[in-house]
Amino acid sequence: MNFNRRQFFKVALGLSALALTPKELKASPGKYATLIDITKCDRCEGEFMPLCVKACREVNKHRFPDPKKPIPPYWPRKTYEDWSDKREIIDTLSPYNWLFIQKVEIEGHTLFIPRRCMHCDSPPCVKGCPFGALSKQPEGNTVIDHNICFGGAKCRDVCPWHIPQRQAGVGIYLKLMPKLAGGGVMYKCDLCDARIKRGEEPACVVACRERLKDRAVYTFGKREEIFALAKNRASEEGLYIYGDRQNGGTSTLYLSSIPFEKIEAKLKETRARFGMPVKVVNRYMEEINPWGKAVLVAGALGIGAGLVGAFYSKKEEKEEKHGENQEIF
Ligand code: SF4
Ligand code: SF4
Ligand code: SF4
Repeated sequence: MNFNRRQFFKVALGLSALALTPKELKASPGKYATLIDITKCDRCEGEFMPLCVKACREVNKHRFPDPKKPIPPYWPRKTYEDWSDKREIIDTLSPYNWLFIQKVEIEGHTLFIPRRCMHCDSPPCVKGCPFGALSKQPEGNTVIDHNICFGGAKCRDVCPWHIPQRQAGVGIYLKLMPKLAGGGVMYKCDLCDARIKRGEEPACVVACRERLKDRAVYTFGKREEIFALAKNRASEEGLYIYGDRQNGGTSTLYLSSIPFEKIEAKLKETRARFGMPVKVVNRYMEEINPWGKAVLVAGALGIGAGLVGAFYSKKEEKEEKHGENQEIF
């Protein structure tokens, strides 16, 4: 290995920095956040379709998948995911329903919880996509580029809430590998990316406020203000917060009068398709324990010391040779 002094210091510094860098630095909180106050949601009592769900479907319908049939199986699997004949389903997430209201019966109360992408600060879906089809936006939201997505569902596998939903028979597969078009494309809430970039609020937020006015379930705004509002309300009204720490932090905060541990337990008990785990570890941001960190630092320093040794022994060797040569000449 031939290292000059500059290269050596670069490598040694890089290794030490890698070992010492706090993983939290990778989080990118973004500009906006949403507060979802589940103490106020009544699932739009009297309406067949909750108004926020209706607004989401309306604003995004031009982006819903329109698969070519028959859909070939996704090799090597024999099956594929096809929601195209179940477009009317509104009580779960699907490629045609990016927001749903989850009903939870608990301690004599009925809770209605609007569920959609949490828009994580350090989103595993973005990091896990092998094709770079997902991106974290400066506004704090994560977005799937449907033109690049192969529908491999890695984003869903690594998402602690398994939010993205797959539709087969659409997407880039049709052009590149039509026989494998069963892969498809992933879909999820993008926090109304186009609207928030224009300075408008997400459609679900507006729809709920039009009905409930100042008792609206959603509050959308600047991240610091939303976090401060959630914390104030939690301490003044004895409410519980979800989303501030889960998965390393998100842009979606929930307020509840019932502890989220109980909600999580109830969702587990009823085998709900979408849970609300309280202890969510971000697989790409796991805290390295102090011992692990010490081992990493020692390893980096050891490698560094080895490189220093190699560098100087090489240098000495050269100098000796140079000396020998001088003697010759
Ligand atoms: S519009 Fe508001 S009240 Fe109606 S279901 Fe959605 S969040 Fe709940
Ligand atoms: S909730 Fe899931 S899909 Fe949404 S940003 Fe986080 S990891 Fe990605
Ligand atoms: S933010 Fe937009 S895309 Fe996301 S659930 Fe609300 S309306 Fe749907």
